[in-house]
Amino acid sequence: MSPGLHGPERTCLGCRATLERDALVRYVVTPAGAVTVDYRKRLPGRGAYTCISRTCLAAAVQKRQFSRAFHREGVLAEVATLASELTGQIAERIFNLLGMARKSRQVLSGGSLVFDALHSKGQPALIILAEDMSTDIANKIAHRAEACGVPLWHRYDKELLGRLLGKEERSVVAVQAGPLAEAIKTELFRLEQIAGEC
Ligand SMILES: [Zn+2]
Repeated sequence: MSPGLHGPERTCLGCRATLERDALVRYVVTPAGAVTVDYRKRLPGRGAYTCISRTCLAAAVQKRQFSRAFHREGVLAEVATLASELTGQIAERIFNLLGMARKSRQVLSGGSLVFDALHSKGQPALIILAEDMSTDIANKIAHRAEACGVPLWHRYDKELLGRLLGKEERSVVAVQAGPLAEAIKTELFRLEQIAGEC
């Protein structure tokens, strides 16, 4: 691909890789000197970047790269706090995307509906199972999804999934193939990159 087709690039403070800005997390510093996540890249002021990875975030903090990037001594940057902010902001993005998918009728919900869809031609592109749903149904759907090669995540609870879809509690949510499903998958994979102990 010609370089002209890429967006602007930035360097990760953790691993020093240069990547497209869209593939990185942006951080800004508050007037009080705390580093904060700007996942949507909309906050004014100087920005600093890392890969969407807990490892790179931790490396940036340990090497005091945020102070250097913001030209300011002693900025407050904690891995756990920033990872949790990032998780929250990615979740918001997922909820927005699910809302859009729902409005364009690309969302299925309910165990039997999703299970049947897995047997049909128009297989969903991804499935989210509520963390507090019945294990039996969850296992049944997970086995079927694995056999069909449909990615599946255990995230959020029935009440939240239902609320996102404007319904009562929902244990199983599936999104039909398309750009919205791809965008949701990207965000769900990103969440995995920032989870973990640190
Ligand atoms: Zn990196």
